[in-house]
Amino acid sequence: MSVIEEVKQRIDIAEVVSQYVKLTKSGRTFRGLCPFHSEKHPSFFIYPERQSWHCFGACNTGGDIFSFIMKKEGIDFGEALRLLAQRAGVSLPSRLEPSAKRDEQERLYQANEAATHYFHNLLLHSSAGEKTQSYVASRGLSLETITSFQLGFSPNSWEALKQYLLERGYTESELLTAGLVIETEAGGTHDRFRNRLMFPIYDIKGRITGFGARALDDSLPKYLNSPQTPIFDKSSSLYGINLAAAAIRQQNMVVMVEGYMDVITAHQNGFNNVVASMGTSVTEKQVSAVKRLTKNMALALDADAAGEEAMLRGVGYENTLDAEVKVIILPSGKDPDDVIKEDAKMWQNLLEEALPVVDYTFDMVTAKLDLTTAGDQRFAVERLGPIVLEIKDPVRYAHYVQKLARLAKVPERTIEATLSKIKTAHRAKEPKLEAIAQALRPVFSSPVEEYCLALLLQHPELKGYRQQPSAEYFQNSENREIFIAWQQASDLSSLKGELDPAIWEHLDYLLTKSLPPNQIEEKYTGTVLRLREGFLRGLATKGEAALALEAELGGTAAELAKLEEQGIEISLQLGEVFSQKSRRVRSKGAEK
Ligand SMILES: [Zn+2]
Repeated sequence: MSVIEEVKQRIDIAEVVSQYVKLTKSGRTFRGLCPFHSEKHPSFFIYPERQSWHCFGACNTGGDIFSFIMKKEGIDFGEALRLLAQRAGVSLPSRLEPSAKRDEQERLYQANEAATHYFHNLLLHSSAGEKTQSYVASRGLSLETITSFQLGFSPNSWEALKQYLLERGYTESELLTAGLVIETEAGGTHDRFRNRLMFPIYDIKGRITGFGARALDDSLPKYLNSPQTPIFDKSSSLYGINLAAAAIRQQNMVVMVEGYMDVITAHQNGFNNVVASMGTSVTEKQVSAVKRLTKNMALALDADAAGEEAMLRGVGYENTLDAEVKVIILPSGKDPDDVIKEDAKMWQNLLEEALPVVDYTFDMVTAKLDLTTAGDQRFAVERLGPIVLEIKDPVRYAHYVQKLARLAKVPERTIEATLSKIKTAHRAKEPKLEAIAQALRPVFSSPVEEYCLALLLQHPELKGYRQQPSAEYFQNSENREIFIAWQQASDLSSLKGELDPAIWEHLDYLLTKSLPPNQIEEKYTGTVLRLREGFLRGLATKGEAALALEAELGGTAAELAKLEEQGIEISLQLGEVFSQKSRRVRSKGAEK
């Protein structure tokens, strides 16, 4: 399956559109006020079964989720694909990045690299950096550690870094995009990081994607990060991954901590498989990022913060990793940095004693209960049941059903029955998106569209042909993109250049699709007619549905009349298609 198809399958059009338009469900459709023109009465429809949308008002146009996002966000197909892929959790292979974009990103990496160099030098070799140097020394960091993490010092100046980088040929707009400078209200820019200890954040390939920065005075926030940029996404970054990757692979285990200092101290003490989620709780994206290195993960959690919610997330990570997640419980109020510095042996022990997240949750919940009483037994099942239900691995699921049965002192089948009751109650309350998407999964491919495109692409002589489809006949955005590019391009290589690389796979498929050897023009004319017919039929059914709904909801006479008029227009055009078709059949007969 191509990434485009994968995105389409995972995205539910009604769900995405409802973020922009207030939708009301009505039968098998949703409707709302059209986001593309101004109106008082809703004429904008979503058809979940077809995963399409249509405006019967002033726009009188429609399409799939890609065309909706492109129109709504004012972006091109590639950008819409990236946006939706991110939403759908589909990762796009980097080879699909257009080369111009790659070049732009390369510049940002280089700007970050130059900034890192600048900050690092100031920390080690400037008088302004002396205070910071003594701070890191007081935290026990060796020169070797400072160098391997490339720690730095950003001076207390509005322009120092900016000037330094401008002199090296970076433009102000590149520095803005990299998040190194901030736009002021007056329209100028100034350095984002001032008077801070700088932690460059590397990706697994060793490229610097952004920065973390700790205030050295009372400035707030105490920790400041680079903003989201084309190369930095905090929620998928892991601090220290560049230095930890080899150890994670080797030990087949990753330890997740929260802070920069936790990682640095761990590494300085030889615990090299430690990375940080940078302040916030671990995200699914971060878990997916380490999955390529190991399936075994341990989360270092503060005893006070290790709530049930964190536990539930832990189970989610288990499902992502398809392996058990362990928790390292830190002494109350201490972070790994403190623990390791006080007693590295103790950290080692905590690692060895780490418990599987579900077992730990069982311990937490039952610690306060008296499991000889029926009330507490029931309570235990109620609290732990939903967590057990989240476990997707059948073997571990069965294991914890048994464990719960033992704890609550009831037969396993009683637990099973309770769990299935919880499950049903859960389902009824908030239907899982996955289930909705499954139920609404439409047919995504459009054989006629593809056949028509394959003919056009493989037979350049058709370009001059009288009968041409219109771009709107193509309901699939990738087909529409290819058709529009084909109209504009003079040859295949320029056509490819016009297209987003994500579409190349589909283009190659069309270029190599096997076609009948003869009567190409004949087949082409027929295909264009079929496309037109399909387009008009689609309009007609959508229009009928709109009309029925309008009547049902008590639409005004004028609105009903307008819809009806549109319906008549469509059927007239359809009639034209049919007469053309029958003419073709007749002339074929005459040839014989
Ligand atoms: Zn509209």
